[in-house]
This record gives sequence, structure tokens and C-alpha cells, in this order.
Amino acid sequence: MCSGFETNAVHAGYAAGEHAHAGVPPIYMSAAFDMESAARGDALSAGAEDGFSYSRVANPTVDVLERRLAALEGGRSAVAVASGMAAVSFALLCAAEGGGRIIAPKTLYGASVDAMASFFPQFGVHTDFVECINDLAEVESLIGPDTRAVFAESVANPSTEVTDVAGLAELAHRHGVPLIIDNTVPTPYLFRPIRWGADVVVHSTTKGISGHGNTLGGVVVDAGRFDWASPRFPQFTRTEVVVSDDRSGVWHSFASRFGADAYIRRLRIKYVRTFGAVESPFNAYLQLLGLETLPVRIRQQTRSAAAVARHLRTVRHVRDVRYSGLALAAPDGVDVYQAQLVRRLFPDGVGGVLSFELDGDRAHIERVLDAVRVFTYIPNIGDSRSLIVDPARITHREVPADFRAAAGVTDNLIRLSIGLEDVDDLIADLDQAIQRAYGEP
Ligand SMILES: *Cc1c(COP(=O)(O)O)cnc(C)c1O
Repeated sequence: MCSGFETNAVHAGYAAGEHAHAGVPPIYMSAAFDMESAARGDALSAGAEDGFSYSRVANPTVDVLERRLAALEGGRSAVAVASGMAAVSFALLCAAEGGGRIIAPKTLYGASVDAMASFFPQFGVHTDFVECINDLAEVESLIGPDTRAVFAESVANPSTEVTDVAGLAELAHRHGVPLIIDNTVPTPYLFRPIRWGADVVVHSTTKGISGHGNTLGGVVVDAGRFDWASPRFPQFTRTEVVVSDDRSGVWHSFASRFGADAYIRRLRIKYVRTFGAVESPFNAYLQLLGLETLPVRIRQQTRSAAAVARHLRTVRHVRDVRYSGLALAAPDGVDVYQAQLVRRLFPDGVGGVLSFELDGDRAHIERVLDAVRVFTYIPNIGDSRSLIVDPARITHREVPADFRAAAGVTDNLIRLSIGLEDVDDLIADLDQAIQRAYGEP
């Protein structure tokens, strides 16, 4: 297959000759597929032949998306699901099911925090939260016999602090534990965690990958190199009917049957097939369309975000601008350790999300949100439109106070997701909104 990122974004995973020579991957709106003969039906059901029989397990449009995202992340294979939260939940439970523990930072996406802190424990899966995931000594001190994964976001939202994926991977692997990375904020265009040692990558494809705020989706990408057959993960070495041929007396576990594909196959066969959070062919189509322009969109959004961040630093009433990407162009004021990490792992930038704190009180924040005209007040990121939100009230509402504090989410924080508009219009819009909010004509 082709190797350049831009080329893969347009072509990877699709062969027109297999789809009536359609130039664009078609939308296969079919719940199920003709198995043609008893012999083929038997082979498909036994997994002896690859193909499609029922769209809750696999679908040709979704399959193209999975292959394309695996190629873009430099992974071995991928499973697309109905949302980012399905990707996060399935990826973590597939590793930690049956009493495992996960190590993760308190700065995670709000719904991930809620899932891990108060819902997964109902299923016997617990999380050890750390203040700072780059504190490798603290992470190491928490690794025990039940630890099944280290989980972090490559770029935190809204602080844009970056994670030392290379250091964490080395540490986790020394203890026989996999590293799972949520790579939603930078997208694979800016950062590919597998290259730095991560074992599994998840995305909310709702965000930059789709890029137009018009669909929901998620994906789990597997590097295919972690040893799931170790005694730490009994779910992979236990024999199971679903991957065996009990009539012939041939018994298999996911590890013995699928080898390097054990994790992604278990995720598809157990999680997607039984919980059923399957991606629709139509949503997969929209994501494939979005991916074609991913490089050009992310380049412009990253450039504009840096310009907006630099400008905000000069604006009256702005107390603090949080954008680690400034390490590349205007590093004064960016934490030295963060700046080093950004230069090493993110030479092309950290993406279009940034945040800033204003002085004043809640009334000022509300007036800014109400006064913007180009920015839209929408709790999303990675859209072609520029978006503004107050995280403390909206995106981090479900998060306990100490988690909000660790993520730097104060009541006066505003988050921006920079879209594709003219950057001068974006800057002028923020200027007029802040001036009006503080009664300065
Ligand atoms: C949005 C988001 C999610 C959840 O994705 P949905 O598609 O909304 O379910 C998970 N992680 C991060 C970092 C996100 O930004």
C-alpha cells in the first residue's frame, strides 16, 4: 500500500475493483449479506473465510474506514464503533475485564472520568488516578499484579498538556502492561502513538477525523505487538466456544486462535457483537469523506490556533493562555518540560484546541459567550466551524471538583476549538466580545 500520510488519507483500505469500480467507497445499507452456499456459510461462520454476513459484526463501508484508520495510525488492524465513548469503554474493558485495574490521569475527558471513577467499578474494573501522568515514578509505584493498562490522552483537553507517550510505553512494557492512548485531540495527522510505543489507540472520530461536526463515531486501533497471552490477562488464554469448533473437539482461546490479532478480534467478537455499539455505514461514509481533507484542515486549524493563542496573550483581561503548541513558536511562558516534549513528539503542533482564563467573574464569562458572532457556543471540538465553551459548566460538569482542579478547569476558563474561518475574523470576534463583556466600547 502507499506510505505517505496524505495519500493514505485519500486511498488506504479501498480497492474500487471490489466495489463495482465506484470511485468513492459506497454506503452499504444492508443489515445482512447473502452467504450464497451452505459451504460458504459454514466457512464464514467458522471464521475460516473472511467476508460479510451480518452488519453488527462487520460491514463493507465500515471495513474501508477501519482499514484506512489502521493505516493512518500505523496499526495492524482496527474496529470502528458508534462513538468515542464506545471506543474508550470497549478498549479499556477488553484489557481489564474480570477484576483488573487501570492507571490514568485525572485530566481525562469528562465522560471517561465518569465511566472509570463511578461506573466501571460496578463491573469490577477499578482505576488508580494520578495527578500527572508524566510523573513516571508515581505511575510505576501504582503498577501491581492486577494492573491491566495505562491509559492517557496524547493531548489533554482543555489544557493541551502533552503526554510522554514514549516514556510511559517503556515503563508500562517493563512491567508487562499495555499502553492505551486516546489520540482524539491531535488526530493521527499530528501524532501517531504507535510509533512511540503505544499498544492500542482510540479516537472519538466525531471530532477532527470527521471534521464537520455532522456525525458520531469511534475507533480502536491495535498495534498488534502486545503479548496478551501472559498470565496477567486470563481472558485471552481461556478457551471459549465462540472461537472453537466444539463439534470437532477443537478448543481455542483468543490467543491460540488469533495470535497477534487476539485483542482486536476479542474486541469485535465479544464487545461490538454483544454490546452492539456498531458504527453505521452512513456515519462511516461521512468519516471517510472527512479523512480525505484531514491533513489540510488540521494544518490550517493548527496554524490559526497558534495565531489566536499568541494574540490572546496580548489582550487585556486575559490572565492565562493555555496552548502547549506555543512551545514551537513563542515558548516563553510554556512550562520547560512541556516545551521539550512538544518539540520532540509534536513537531507539527498539537492541534486546534486551546483555552484561556479571563479576570472578572461568572457574569463576564457569560457575556463573552453571548457576544461572539463568528464562534458558536457548541460543546464539541474538531469542527470546521470555530467553537467556544465554558468547560466548568458544560464539558466538565460531570467531573468531581478535584478532577476539575487537576485539569485546570476553573470557573473563568474558556475553551476554543479553532475551525476553518479566516483567522483575522476569529481574532476580531474574540476582541469585540471581550471588549463588550467588560464594557469597553
Ligand atoms: C469527545 C471525546 C470522547 C468521546 O467521544 P464521543 O464520540 O463523544 O463519544 C472521548 N475522548 C476524547 C478526548 C474526546 O474529546
